[in-house]
Amino acid sequence: MTRALSLTSIALASALFLLAQAPPTAPPPNPANQATVRAANGDHKVTIAQQNGQTYFAADEVIAALGGTLAHEGNGFKAALNNSVAAFGTDSRFAVVKDDLIEMPVPPVTIDNRPFVPWQFFQGFLLRSSGLDATWDPAARLLQIHPAQTSAVGVQVSVANVQGISKLVLTLTAPAEYAIVKEPGAYTVRFKSAIKAPYVEQTHEDPYVAKTSFIGNDLRIQLTAPDVVGDAYRLENPFRIVLDLRKGAAAAPGTPQPLTSSRPVEPPGIRTIVIDPGHGGKEVGAIGPGGLMEKDATLAVCRLLAASLEARLKTRVVLTRNDDTVVPLDQRTAIANQYHADLFLSVHMNAAIVKGAHGAETYFLSLDASDKLAEKAAEVENNSAKTLATPASSSDLKLILWDLAQQEYLNESSRLAQAVQEEMNRITGIQSRGVKQAPFKVLVGATMPAALVEVAFITNPDEEAKIKSDAFQKTVVEALTTAVARYKVDYETRIGVAQPPPAPLAPTVTAPPSKPAVPTTTGTTTAATTRTGT
Ligand SMILES: [Zn+2]
Repeated sequence: MTRALSLTSIALASALFLLAQAPPTAPPPNPANQATVRAANGDHKVTIAQQNGQTYFAADEVIAALGGTLAHEGNGFKAALNNSVAAFGTDSRFAVVKDDLIEMPVPPVTIDNRPFVPWQFFQGFLLRSSGLDATWDPAARLLQIHPAQTSAVGVQVSVANVQGISKLVLTLTAPAEYAIVKEPGAYTVRFKSAIKAPYVEQTHEDPYVAKTSFIGNDLRIQLTAPDVVGDAYRLENPFRIVLDLRKGAAAAPGTPQPLTSSRPVEPPGIRTIVIDPGHGGKEVGAIGPGGLMEKDATLAVCRLLAASLEARLKTRVVLTRNDDTVVPLDQRTAIANQYHADLFLSVHMNAAIVKGAHGAETYFLSLDASDKLAEKAAEVENNSAKTLATPASSSDLKLILWDLAQQEYLNESSRLAQAVQEEMNRITGIQSRGVKQAPFKVLVGATMPAALVEVAFITNPDEEAKIKSDAFQKTVVEALTTAVARYKVDYETRIGVAQPPPAPLAPTVTAPPSKPAVPTTTGTTTAATTRTGT
């Protein structure tokens, strides 16, 4: 079946991606590598290290040169400069400053127990703490510190290859007009207003992007081959221009082609679903009294769910992991965005907060947890991938403030979560539980309706035994499939692509032709939904 093939390739691509993202261990850096930090107080020699094509700076030396301090804190580090503090760790590309995040192209690394960071860390920290900016000139090995220009729009470039597609992201300090011009073997992003280039030229260790260079207000992206093609789109808050680059049919030589500005043409509706088995690898999640690990239970349920959704809904289904591996939280939604998924469902098993707790709980993303229990649940799930010494709840909120991509889907996410909760209540016989909102990190950044379901309490011995049983897993999978089917029909009816209802008197909508429509049983707050299948 095609799914088996595609899932294998996804798993392989994920593994390669993880390898590429993992903090490099070899070869050892050349300790003689040095660069110059040129600040208002003079030049300072600092240590740099080259690993996997990236240049890393000894954070303590650069921060000291800038007049600040650096210290270990918990599993991470804290840099202080001008009464501002930046926290960072070696397994996250994001550093936290006040209510803001600094994005780095790769996570920091430690060498001899000292943190080494990409130069973008200093740029981000200076802009947020001192009104200063940094520009890195790799040829001169010069990190120039200079006053930030406020009139020109700042541009940051990041390149990452995710599952065979290279994602080039330009993050701008303000929205800007631009045009993208395709030339043989290159794209040029032509800004229509003044931009502040972060560097003159940079080479990239990427299958498709060889080099990026700034010339005036143009960014030229040199590709590795003439048959690399791309889609471009933009994201807001912050303003980002994204190019997805991949191998395509070779263009006729010398024929300039406009870059397509949209996704592959697909009829609207729920076509691609991403299912996210919670946790994995060393992040085992919650553990039941009998030893059942959440990561194993979620994978078992999600594999069955993927097969069930494909069979019943005829949709494409992608799993964020199909084996026992660690997948970082931000990569899970990145996978969903990469596949232009129309729906994202993260599956977890609950840990008891209240003794004897049982039943399912469904969440969608919120800036404010809907109640203290929801907040606690989010904290537990988020902590599994916690990297920084800052309290989980506060750094999660910062992450959410930074990227409100999910916000425009909140209404749809709430409908999806509602359908899931109703179906789960139906199989457990619990009617009192409602949908909750919580700041789950895994849902942040998803640009599609997204929800997280806690199937049952793995820490409750009775529920742990149920979760292990094939019969209960099958029941859960049927309930979740039905919930997604309900949401799909609901959504496609509202956007006008689903079949009109056959009975003029019925206010409900039809299921797909092959499935009998069954009226909703209980508790539905939206009138225009039906339950399909059995
Ligand atoms: Zn979990």
